[in-house]
Amino acid sequence: MSDPVRLIFLGGLGEIGRNCFCIEIAGRLLVVDCGLMFPTEDMPGVDLVLPDLGYLEERAADLEAVLLTHGHEDHIGALPFLLERVEVPVYGTELTVGMVGPKLEERKVADRTRLICFGDGETVRCGPFEFTAIPVTHSVPHGVGFAFHTPQGTIVHTGDFKLDLTPVDGRRTDVSTFGELGKAGVRLLLSDSTNAEVPGVTGSERLVGEWLLDLFGRHDANRIVCACFASHLHRVQQVCDAALTYGRKIAFLGRSMLANTALARELGLLTIPDSAIINVADVDDYPPEQICIVCTGSQGEPLAALSLMAAGENRSVTISDDDTVVFSSSPIPGNEMNVHRAIDGLTRHGAAVVHSGTSRVHVSGHAAAQELEMMLSLTRPEFFVPVHGEYRHLKAHARLAEALGVEAANVVIAEDGDVVVLDDDGIHLAEDRAPGGYVYVDGSGVGDINAGVLRDRQVLSDDGVLIAVVGVDSRDGAIVRGPEIMSRGFLEPDASEQFAKEAADAVRQSIESAAAEGALDHTTLSRHVRQSLSRFANKRTRRRPLVFPLVIEL
Ligand SMILES: [Zn+2]
Ligand SMILES: [Zn+2]
Repeated sequence: MSDPVRLIFLGGLGEIGRNCFCIEIAGRLLVVDCGLMFPTEDMPGVDLVLPDLGYLEERAADLEAVLLTHGHEDHIGALPFLLERVEVPVYGTELTVGMVGPKLEERKVADRTRLICFGDGETVRCGPFEFTAIPVTHSVPHGVGFAFHTPQGTIVHTGDFKLDLTPVDGRRTDVSTFGELGKAGVRLLLSDSTNAEVPGVTGSERLVGEWLLDLFGRHDANRIVCACFASHLHRVQQVCDAALTYGRKIAFLGRSMLANTALARELGLLTIPDSAIINVADVDDYPPEQICIVCTGSQGEPLAALSLMAAGENRSVTISDDDTVVFSSSPIPGNEMNVHRAIDGLTRHGAAVVHSGTSRVHVSGHAAAQELEMMLSLTRPEFFVPVHGEYRHLKAHARLAEALGVEAANVVIAEDGDVVVLDDDGIHLAEDRAPGGYVYVDGSGVGDINAGVLRDRQVLSDDGVLIAVVGVDSRDGAIVRGPEIMSRGFLEPDASEQFAKEAADAVRQSIESAAAEGALDHTTLSRHVRQSLSRFANKRTRRRPLVFPLVIEL
């Protein structure tokens, strides 16, 4: 009997975001990625969504290390929050670790965290774990997948990947290593499901370079402002290459764009001559056709450089009809409204706007169906668990695996909180579960709001709030003050005043009838006030505002 291996999924299975799972061997835990998710529209006021790190905090003594696949927020964003609670070494490639560094400093955990770099193809041992880093191509450089060499055989985790045969930096997904692992025998494959529903093959990043050259050629009289993800350094390189081809100076704009391009140039991952780079404050010293601004904000994030330009509020850059603005991205589901608002604002200021809805300006960083099939046939796993996706992506990926010969009984669709056990008998879901719920960050609070708070916020944002203040004589229930009805977000002031008069009558009647029945305790009176006001509001307006009774005993 060999030690069983447990996989504890804390996030990323059922959503795109907050990727985090643990491999457990002999009671020790190796955490793979610790990412965040950005809030959806049904989470008003929420800044970030994290995996439930409480589980890892409880098991702090068992933690061996955190392993990072690449530097995207959905893989590293929750790490500073984890490191606030536990001390544990972190492994990643040089770039990934470099991207993590400033985040740890920001949350003041850099000093006590050991960051350890591994190279492509390197095998690392720590505790009962042994893993090999396998290069993969993705929309951030130096991403890796892992082969974990465990008592239950080899577990391959692809990380976020695509099979780009002509990547910008020449660093291809190491298909030969995946193939060799497959020949030697892969017990379990965990693979990126993001684009499992997309048929065919995701195009090479190099295609975008050709499209950009063409675009720069067609817009050669304009200043060009190009927005993309600051972590997409290959894209940044190709935008800069197109700019250099047309003799433009390059100005970077946006905090993360400045930080990432500085880091990447230091590591030799971005090649741009110093003489080509100017400060964004100086762009007006040059004619428009000699300038290319590379900035953040391709998702229409309200505070990013591009959105501020669209609103006419950017300090350094004023948009006019001399500008061509390129969104070199496609909107992530949920961001469409913000992106459209930014496009509209820029168009209003006279810019020609080029985006994924009008032109070819972007390719995905994730493998499409045919590439996933290729990964499955290279690794030929005995068992398969699709990861990194919403439920439908996981399901689509499971179907691909079955079509390629993985037995249906050997494919497990796990979800957040599930624990998958691999032992001598095969694979199964454990009876115990880990917490898989969302932990919300709002302001400085982590985990101090829950689904109930969000429901209240939604009700408030749907129909507003009504407050009834009434002073009651505790001896006989006689009303000695009010009822006063106040509202926010419910009716405009004039209508609200008329409503308040009638609502006060309804509340008064309900207190009087309660008092007549001798129900004088505070709880009963409060309930009567709430019910009568809710009923009245609903009858008059067909709305259901949050009703808050404030009964004061005098
Ligand atoms: Zn990624
Ligand atoms: Zn990801």
